[in-house]
Amino acid sequence: MSDVVIVGGGIAGLTAALLLAEKDFRVKLIESAPDLGGLLRSHTRGQWGEFDHGTHVFSETGLEELDAVLFAELRGSPDWIGHPHCTQDTFFSNRRQQSSFLDVRLLGTELHDRAWQEMQALSPPEQSPTTLAESVASAYGPTLEKHVFSPVMQKMFGTGLDELASDAAQLFGLRRLVLGTPEATRELKAAHPWHDSRLAFHHLTEGASPIRHFYPRECGIGLWTKQTITRIKALGVEILASTQICKVELDKTGRRLEALVLSNQRRLACDSLIWSAPAFHLLKLAGLPLLAGVSPPRHRRAMIADLVLDRPLDSHSHYLTCYEPTMRTFRVTNYGALQNKPTRTPAKVTMEVLTDANASDQITQHSLLSELVAMGLVPSETKILESWLDGVNHGFPILTPGFKRDALALGDFITSQLDNVLLGGRASGRVFFMKDVILDIHRQIQSRF
Ligand SMILES: Cc1cc2nc3c(=O)[nH]c(=O)nc-3n(C[C@H](O)[C@H](O)[C@H](O)COP(=O)(O)OP(=O)(O)OC[C@H]3O[C@@H](n4cnc5c(N)ncnc54)[C@H](O)[C@@H]3O)c2cc1C
Repeated sequence: MSDVVIVGGGIAGLTAALLLAEKDFRVKLIESAPDLGGLLRSHTRGQWGEFDHGTHVFSETGLEELDAVLFAELRGSPDWIGHPHCTQDTFFSNRRQQSSFLDVRLLGTELHDRAWQEMQALSPPEQSPTTLAESVASAYGPTLEKHVFSPVMQKMFGTGLDELASDAAQLFGLRRLVLGTPEATRELKAAHPWHDSRLAFHHLTEGASPIRHFYPRECGIGLWTKQTITRIKALGVEILASTQICKVELDKTGRRLEALVLSNQRRLACDSLIWSAPAFHLLKLAGLPLLAGVSPPRHRRAMIADLVLDRPLDSHSHYLTCYEPTMRTFRVTNYGALQNKPTRTPAKVTMEVLTDANASDQITQHSLLSELVAMGLVPSETKILESWLDGVNHGFPILTPGFKRDALALGDFITSQLDNVLLGGRASGRVFFMKDVILDIHRQIQSRF
C-alpha cells in the first residue's frame, strides 16, 4: 500500500482524498487552517445559522463517474435541494434584470443598436488575441469596449483591458452577452462557433445543460465538507488540521519527495504528494531555485459581508451580479431563494466586494444597505438586524498574460524537478472555478494513479 499525502483541504484536496481513499492508498490530508473546506466552508452566525465563505452552490461536473462519487450523499437526500438552474439577476446601467448574462439592452436602445451593428460587422480574428483589449476589439467592437468591458473590468480587476489576458472577462461571466433579438441570436449561434462564444440566448432555459446545482435545505454549503470529512475518515483517511509543514525530505536522486516533516516534528512518509496550496511555498520547502522572471501571482481581496435583513429581497433569484461600475458590490447571494424560501423573514444575504486592500473601514452597514436599495432589492426603510465583515486575502486572481505564463512555468518547473508531485487547485493558477478545479484534479489522478 503506498502513502499519498495531500496538502490543502479545500475542494481540490477533498476531491483527491475521496478519489484515492476509494482506491487502495494510505491517504493523509494536511490543512493549515483549523477547519477543512477552504472556500467551501460555512460559518455559524449565532441564532441566524450559517453563511458561506466563498462558493455557495455545488454543481455537478457533467462527468457521471465523478459526479457519482461527489454527489453520492446529495442526490435524493431530503437535506439537499437540487436546482435545475442557478437563477441570477444582473444589475447594470442602474437597472436590474433577471438574466444570467449581461443584457446590453440595459444600456438603452441607441447604444444597444450601435453595439449590435458593430458586432455584426466583425468577423473571426485570424490570430488569437493576447490581451483582453485585443480580444474585445476583435469580437465586440468599440461601443461595448467603452461602455461595458472597460468600466466593468476596471471595477472587477482594478486594471485596464490592455493589462489583462484575452479571456480574463470570463472570470466574471462577461463572455456571452445578450444583444439583438432571440431569433437573430439563435440563427447566429447555430451558424458559427465564434458567434456562439459571443452571444447568449435570451431565455434561461434555452441551451441550458442538464446539470443540477445543489444547496442544503437548512444549513450552508459547508454541509458537503462535513459529510465528506465523515466519508473520508470512514475510508481511512487521516486528517491533520491546524498543521504546518516545516520541511520536505528528498531521496538520494533529489528527484523524489520522500517525506514531509510537520511543525510537531512528526515525519510523514510520502510516495506521492498532491499539492493544492500555493506553489511558491512548495518551491521554497523543496529548496528549488526561484525561476528568473517569474513573479508571485497577484490577487484581489474579496470582502465578504454577511447581513440579516428585517425583510426579504425583492427577487427570487439565487444571486445578483452587480456589473454597475459606480457600485462596490460584485455579488449578492440570496439564501432564502437558494433554500426555496425567498419570502422568509428575517432574510440572510451575503454581499461580496473586490478590493486591493483591506477595505473594512469603507464597507459599512450604511454603504451596503444603500447599494441594496439602489439595486431595488429592498426599500430604504429596511433595517440590518446584524452584520459581519470578513475577507479572503488571495481572492480573485488578476488574470494578466504574465499571471498565466508564470503559473504554467512554475507548475511545469516543479513537476519537472520532482517526479512524484502533482499540483492542483486554484493555487496552481491554472484553474479557478470549482468545476474546473474538480475536473482538473480528477484528470490528473486518473492519469497518475
Ligand atoms: C470569494 C470567492 C468566491 C468564489 N465563488 C465561487 C463560485 O461561486 N463558484 C465557483 O465555481 N468558484 C468560486 N470561487 C472559486 C474557488 O476558488 C473554487 O471554487 C474552489 O473553492 C477552489 O478550491 P481549492 O481547493 O483549489 O482552494 P481553496 O478552497 O482555497 O482551498 C485551499 C486550502 O489549502 C489550505 N492551505 C493553504 N496553504 C496551506 C499550506 N501551506 N499547508 C496546508 N494547507 C494549506 C487553505 O487553508 C485552504 O483550506 C470563489 C472564490 C472566492 C475567493
